[in-house]
Amino acid sequence: MKYKSIAIRKLVQKYREISLLGKVHAVLDWDMNVNLPPKGASLRAEQTALITSLITDGWRNPEFCALFEEALSQSHSKKLTKEEQAIVRNMTHASNYYYKIPKELIVEFSKATSESFMVWQKAKRDDDYELFKPHLAKVIALNRLMADHLGYKDNPYDALLDLYEPGLTSATCEHIFHRLVKEIRPLLSKIQKSRYYDSAPANTGKSFNYSVKRQEQLSLFILRKLGYDLEAGRLDVSPHPFTVDIGRQDVRITTRYSRDDFRESLTSTIHEAGHGLYEQGVLPEYEGTPLASGVSLGIHESQSRFWENQIGRSPEFLTFLTPVLQSFFPEHLATVREHEIVRMFNHVAPSLIRVEADEVTYNLHIALRFEIEHAVINNKVTVDEIPELWRHKMKEYVGVVPETHAAGVLQDVHWSYGSFGYFPTYTLGNLYAAQFMNRMKDEIDIADCALRGELGTILSWLRSNIHTHGSLYWPDELSRLVSGETLNPQYFIDYLNEKYTALYEL
Ligand code: MG
Repeated sequence: MKYKSIAIRKLVQKYREISLLGKVHAVLDWDMNVNLPPKGASLRAEQTALITSLITDGWRNPEFCALFEEALSQSHSKKLTKEEQAIVRNMTHASNYYYKIPKELIVEFSKATSESFMVWQKAKRDDDYELFKPHLAKVIALNRLMADHLGYKDNPYDALLDLYEPGLTSATCEHIFHRLVKEIRPLLSKIQKSRYYDSAPANTGKSFNYSVKRQEQLSLFILRKLGYDLEAGRLDVSPHPFTVDIGRQDVRITTRYSRDDFRESLTSTIHEAGHGLYEQGVLPEYEGTPLASGVSLGIHESQSRFWENQIGRSPEFLTFLTPVLQSFFPEHLATVREHEIVRMFNHVAPSLIRVEADEVTYNLHIALRFEIEHAVINNKVTVDEIPELWRHKMKEYVGVVPETHAAGVLQDVHWSYGSFGYFPTYTLGNLYAAQFMNRMKDEIDIADCALRGELGTILSWLRSNIHTHGSLYWPDELSRLVSGETLNPQYFIDYLNEKYTALYEL
C-alpha cells in the first residue's frame, strides 16, 4: 500500500503488533472451541486474558498514542489517500473501546463474562434460569456502564450497537423490525394455511441415519464448489459453527453433524464458507492493517446468508444438488424428487430455537431479542421479568411459547458473553443479502448459474464489489457503492414474498 503520510505509515507498522496479538487470540479461541479438553478451560481463560491485556497495552503504548495523535491531526487533510483516511477512521472507531472505557472495567468485564459463560452452560443444561440470573444482571450492569463511558446521543443502547455495526442506532432498528414484523406475520399465516404446510420436514428425524463421514465429504465437495480455498483454511467440527480469521491465508470454518438431518451440516458449512470467502477475498496488501477483514458484522452476515439462503436454498441450486445428494445418501434419498428437496430445505414453521429457524421466521426471533435488550439496557425491564417477556413476545411474533428456559431465554450464548447489541446485525445481514442480490441480478443470471452449479461468476462479482475492499468503506458507503442506496428492507420483504408465494402456491 502506498502512503503519503509518514505518521500513518509508522502507525500502521506499529498497529501490526496489535493485529498479530489479535490473531494469537483468535488461534486460542479456535482451539478452545474445536480441541480443548474440558480440564484445560481455566488455564485457557488465563492465557486469553493475558493476550487481551497485551492488546489493551498496545493501544495505550505512548509511542503508539503519539503516532495516532499525529495521524488524527492530519485526518482532515485533503492530501491523504482514500486508504489512509479509512485507516484513521477505523482506528478511531476501534480505539473508543480502549481509550474511553477504563482498563479496570475492560478487565472486570472480561472476567465477569468468562464466569457467566461457564455458569450459562450449566444453567442451560439444567434449565435453571435462577442460577444464571445474577450473572446476567452483572453483565447487563457492566454493559450499561460501558455505554456511559463510550457515550451516545439518544440512547445508551446505541453505544453498544455501534460496537458491532458502526453507526447503527436504536431508532433504525425500531424502524426495521416494525416493518419486518408487519410484513412477515401475514406471510407466515398464509403459509400455515397453505395445503403444502407441514409442521415437520420430510426425510429427517430419528428413523434416519445420515453417515457423518458422507456428510463431511459432502461439505468438502460444497466448499470446493463455492471456491473456498482449503489451502488457506480448513473445516472442523464444533457445537456452534463459526468462522475465525487468523489471517487472509488462514481462515478456518467449522460445522456440526446430525445423523437425523443432513441439512444442518450442509447449510452450516455453506453459511460459514460465506464468511470465509469474504476474508479470503480481501485485498492482500491490506493484511495486518486496519483495512483487513470484513467491515462490520452486518456486512459479514450478508455474505454468509447470501450463500446459505439466496444460493444454497434456491430451487435452482437445490435442483443441481439433488443427484449429488442422491449419490451421497442413496439409502435415504434414492427416489427423492427435486421439488421434495426444494421443499425440505425451505420448510417453514414457527419454532422455538433461533439457530434452527427458517428464512421467514428468523427475523421475528431477532425482533424480540432486540426489544428485550433495548428494554433492559434502558432499565425498563429487570432480569426477573425477562423470561415472561420472552414468552409473551414469542407468542406474539412467532406464535409458539417455550416450556423451558433452555428453549427460551437461555438458548443463546450471546448474553453470557456479554454481547448486547449484537443480535440486530443478523437481521442486517439478511437484509443486505437480498439488497445486494437484487443488484447482482442486473449483471448476472444468478438462477442459471445456480442451476448449472457454476458459482465462480457469482463469487467473482462478490469479490470485486465487496470482498476485495475489506474495511475500506463503512457499511453505509459500501451499500451505496454496491446497490446505489443505503440499507432498504424492501428488497428482503420482496424476496421473501416472491420466493414463498411461489413455493407454497399462496
Ligand atoms: Mg454468521
